[in-house]
Amino acid sequence: MRTESVQIQNFIDGQFVQPIGGKYLDNIEPATGKPYSQVPDSDDRDVDLAVAAAERAFADWSKKPAAERSTILLRIADLIERDLEKFARAESIDTGKPLSLARFLDIPRAASNFRFFATAILHTESEAHITDGVAFNYTLRQPRGIAGLISPWNLPLYLLSWKIAPAIAVGNTAIAKPSELTPMTAFMLCEIAHEAGLPNGVLNVVHGTGPNVGAAITAHPKINTISFTGGTVTGRKVAEACAPFFKKVSLELGGKNPNIIFADADLDAAIAGSVRSSFANQGQICLCGSRVFVERSAYKDFVERFIDKASQLKLGDPLDEKTEQGAIVNKAQLEKIKFYVDLGQKEGGKIALGGSAPEPPNERCREGYFFQPTVITGLPVSCRTNRDEIFGPVVTITPFDNEDEVINCANDVEYGLSSSVWTQNLNRAHRVAEKINTGTVWVNCWLVRDLRVPFGGMKASGLGREGGEEALRFFTEPKNICIAK
Ligand code: NAD
Repeated sequence: MRTESVQIQNFIDGQFVQPIGGKYLDNIEPATGKPYSQVPDSDDRDVDLAVAAAERAFADWSKKPAAERSTILLRIADLIERDLEKFARAESIDTGKPLSLARFLDIPRAASNFRFFATAILHTESEAHITDGVAFNYTLRQPRGIAGLISPWNLPLYLLSWKIAPAIAVGNTAIAKPSELTPMTAFMLCEIAHEAGLPNGVLNVVHGTGPNVGAAITAHPKINTISFTGGTVTGRKVAEACAPFFKKVSLELGGKNPNIIFADADLDAAIAGSVRSSFANQGQICLCGSRVFVERSAYKDFVERFIDKASQLKLGDPLDEKTEQGAIVNKAQLEKIKFYVDLGQKEGGKIALGGSAPEPPNERCREGYFFQPTVITGLPVSCRTNRDEIFGPVVTITPFDNEDEVINCANDVEYGLSSSVWTQNLNRAHRVAEKINTGTVWVNCWLVRDLRVPFGGMKASGLGREGGEEALRFFTEPKNICIAK
């Protein structure tokens, strides 16, 4: 499929259709700052159409044997892999991320999502509970109906497929809304779903803004399950919209993740891992470690070597094969990053690396949204720069003196998504991991993913868990059937 200059369409009942209102938004390429396609500016009427299609499709799809649903999902995974290069390029243009990152991480992981849930549904077990002398109970898990799936811009296909795959694998039908900033790969996925033989109406994609389409999905009385990934402020609105209907809701929200380096760590590994966790996708991954804490005896050495390594990251045109740092997703996000870098200095921080927009990497990217990898040192732990989610290539590095102190610092934010701990002391690793209030704690690694583990955040980072068994349970309704003896 050609993606440049294309007018993206909604996908409803197996057909590509224009938004009812006929309105479109420009889809801007972050690397150039120029529109390169158009995305439907849909509204509640389009959501109504999608709901009607999803409702019709549910009757058949929910009754299909798991093996048949599985075969179709496996085909979708194969077709994503067949078109990997096209997907990777589209994702790079849409998001500004380096082509190599889309090719090696995002798109393969999207295919894995479909493959994982396609096979997971072939191996589920149901529980039986025997009430002594009185009854047998067993649990029947049934699809819930129509799922509303709302996703952000930073990992568009990967995160949307992480929701679509389990939702439809267990027999639901779905209305998906990708971010209006990065709609292209979801559009391409619809073609593939069609080619793979997914029945009409099982997956519907309605493009548009959060207030117009996202809010219409969360407010629709026939959509009883909402899986949302995005910012904490939006997550609160989603929770409020769902509460009056008692919808089942999963919220994957923001983070301000601590990355803790003890002096006994393998510093080479810790530095390489920390540079990656600080700046991958220009720091625009919810799991990026944006607050680095280093034990004081290793602090000076760590900071020098970290800065040396980060300064070697090649910032460039995202489509250039050698680029390691691409563009920031849009102007508003770039302005937000600049705001926090200024604020960090006002709060007493010192810019140890970066701190400003670079020279454009080439003529094509003259108007693009770029920012240098930036390191701020000397900030108090409690300042805003160290508390608010910036979501850009900006990290703070702070020394600490002991384990209790760093655990307090790590936990002293409203978020609790993920953390990394670097140490060679096994006892300490377990001790610290147990005390950090984040949904994931990586020890001597970052972003290692096993699709079976529960994934999600504590505190303001979310509600509920995705992944493996958790997702299969989220998208089904457990019914207890009690048979008297
Ligand atoms: P966002 O909250 O602005 O938007 C997310 C999605 O919600 C978009 O599709 C948007 O159109 C939609 N939306 C906006 N207003 C809505 C409303 N009132 N009702 C329903 N939907 C609405 O987030 P973003 O800027 O796209 O993404 C960045 C954020 O996502 C960061 O905070 C990041 O940490 C978070 N994130 C979290 C995870 C996770 O797994 N926890 C993963 C990726 C990103």
